[in-house]
Amino acid sequence: MAQSIFFDKRQRFLVGETLKIAETLAGDYFRINLEDIERFPYDLQTLANLKSREKTRRALAQVCKYEYHKKEPLWKFGINEFYRICLQDDKILGAARAETSSLSLLKPLLLYVVTHELVHVVRFSQDPQRFYLEPEEKKVEEKDVHRMTYQILKSFSDPHVRVLLERYRPWWEDLEGQAPEGLPLTNPAGMPNFL
Ligand SMILES: [Zn+2]
Repeated sequence: MAQSIFFDKRQRFLVGETLKIAETLAGDYFRINLEDIERFPYDLQTLANLKSREKTRRALAQVCKYEYHKKEPLWKFGINEFYRICLQDDKILGAARAETSSLSLLKPLLLYVVTHELVHVVRFSQDPQRFYLEPEEKKVEEKDVHRMTYQILKSFSDPHVRVLLERYRPWWEDLEGQAPEGLPLTNPAGMPNFL
């Protein structure tokens, strides 16, 4: 039977649990309350619920931004902007399967991906201009986000989380302030980059 490109029920539950953990950790790291929807308007969707523009073949996940340009906010919360973390189930499952058929890396990979994307959301929410950086600036921003993701997750003693943190270390370390030319979509471990 062909493997599904979507997370199954158990995996979607895992995504929900992972988001809660990542929100707590990121909230502590940035000293913010991510439940404050006026300051941090976002949600997270998996592939089954993504619109075509929210899907990407280039990454495990991406953040999409929605803006309302009417004078009066459409939402009762008074929000004019909204961010959506778009998980690409098929890419994440593919990356986890490439490591082990038992999918033992899926849980820590989800933790890394969701935390990474949440860091983007926090930084976009705090400074909306970050969403519109030039390509070179985006590389620096991406590196900073990987570094912060490492800082947020480094206290985890789970060996699978440790493995992933080391796999992604080259994305933020020893690059002398610059991402290398022509960043490949996969790092040496074969994991696709994030947007
Ligand atoms: Zn990123």
